[in-house]
Amino acid sequence: MQPQIVLLKEGTDTSQGKPQLVSNINACQSIVDAVRTTLGPRGMDKLIVDAHGKATISNDGATIMKLLDIVHPAAKTLVDIAKSQDAEVGDGTTSVVLLAGEFLKQVKPFVEDGVHPRIVIKAIRKALQLCMDKINEMAVHIEKQSKTEQRALLEKCAATAMSSKLIHQQKDFFAKMVVDAVLSLDELLPLNMIGIKKVTGGSLEESQLVSGVAFKKTFSYAGFEMAPKGYENCKIALLNIELELKAERDNAEIRVDNVKEYQKVVDAEWQILYNKLAKIHESGANVVLSKLPIGDVATQYFADRNIFCAGRVPEEDLKRTMKACGGAVMTTANDISPNVLGLCERFAERQVGGERFNLFQGCPNAKTSTLILRGGAEQFLEETERSLHDAIMIVRRTIKHDSVVAGGGAIEMELSKVLRDYSRTIAGKEQLLIAAIAKGLEIIPRQLCDNAGFDATNILNKLRQKHAQGGKWYGVDITKEDIADNYEQCVWEPSIIKINALSAAAEAACMILSVDETIRSPKAGEAPMAGAPMGRGMGRPM
Ligand code: ADP
Ligand code: MG
Repeated sequence: MQPQIVLLKEGTDTSQGKPQLVSNINACQSIVDAVRTTLGPRGMDKLIVDAHGKATISNDGATIMKLLDIVHPAAKTLVDIAKSQDAEVGDGTTSVVLLAGEFLKQVKPFVEDGVHPRIVIKAIRKALQLCMDKINEMAVHIEKQSKTEQRALLEKCAATAMSSKLIHQQKDFFAKMVVDAVLSLDELLPLNMIGIKKVTGGSLEESQLVSGVAFKKTFSYAGFEMAPKGYENCKIALLNIELELKAERDNAEIRVDNVKEYQKVVDAEWQILYNKLAKIHESGANVVLSKLPIGDVATQYFADRNIFCAGRVPEEDLKRTMKACGGAVMTTANDISPNVLGLCERFAERQVGGERFNLFQGCPNAKTSTLILRGGAEQFLEETERSLHDAIMIVRRTIKHDSVVAGGGAIEMELSKVLRDYSRTIAGKEQLLIAAIAKGLEIIPRQLCDNAGFDATNILNKLRQKHAQGGKWYGVDITKEDIADNYEQCVWEPSIIKINALSAAAEAACMILSVDETIRSPKAGEAPMAGAPMGRGMGRPM
């Protein structure tokens, strides 16, 4: 009898070899087509509506990729590289996807003609190595000595990161603001010490930077109006205590037989609350912030004693206040003493648009700042926040690695030239493969032109000629439909973006090329495909 060997579960879907590779490449191509048009200063935005009907307008590659519901396993790789680029450097997310897609597209004919994927992978790795060396050699280091020079450099990088976004009209205004925000941090540049708050209404230029912590006034009870709205040198009690009379109706049963007894229970409850309040008052705090609600009795009590209070403060704001002003978040009222209070020079409540904001300025401990964004629609503000996030990341990166390259396709054209020159010196299949990757790099300037409605072929010809003559920083001039020295034009990008984007794109391309078989097991509980009950009317015997 023949032994029965079952390797794979029934219903497993397999396909392998060259057709599988080509189909994976094609799947990636369609993902790339989805984000292609968003690249660059003249790129378009995408409006994505999710299953819950929430609309998002974005130009950011990573955001778009995250929102797309991608099921193809190979194409998901591209989502991952966009996400990792976003986490690592914060910008260049569209570029990385575009480059990976284009590398695959350029080597696809070779795969179809039967070149072994391993040879292709080797060529991509070699090309990547050459690119890295060239970027490191070309990157311009800006000396750190002069503060004003560093500022100018940072502002230019921030402006370039924002020039492709919805807020590009105001990029200089925001570039200053972002640089101020980042420079106000301490050396570690912790991202969570920059708060971003959004207030709808008003114009973008009304956005402001508050050095210190700011958050929206929380819900408050009557008695609040009497509380003072500003202090100098204030002491802040940070609490995680509910200062409210608890009505424990549901989970307690008390049997009383006369009114006096009942009164005692009520009094005891009030007494507990009053004890807590007295402890807080004794500590000398004049601002009380709590994560939990502060009720009407407590609000009135504090107001009578010239103390400002705010309950239901969002956790992240409370934490930021703690980091900035010192002190500790207390969970009981018993050990509140002056040394657990936070300090700050100025506290004020101010009107911003239709909202009231609590501002804490002159915080002694950590350096922190808050951006209060103004603008029309909700989605617009959200996209503004994402764009500022990109710019903030770029500024942080540039402070850490202070070398820049010219953007607008300049660096890609130069790398392409280097690869093409190298390919002429070698023989065999590798020559054609490296030349193909060189062509792949041209996608960035080409797409920048396409998105701006320029004649891409014409501009690319001019660029190739300029680079051959040694004009290494020549790239697309987006305002004049021409080419320009983008280093002179101050279209600067940190070299780390390009290094990261190229290596991530090359890695992703290699990974997709090294997969020649997908084995998909049927999900648990799902009927296997073969022999599944198909129902009547399908021409199958029942
Ligand atoms: P990504 O998500 O990859 O950052 P963007 O939409 O931000 O995509 O576009 C970035 C590209 O636009 C980069 O190649 C950059 O060099 C280019 N770019 C930005 N500003 C300009 C400009 N003023 N002129 C020409 N190209 C620019
Ligand atoms: Mg960008």
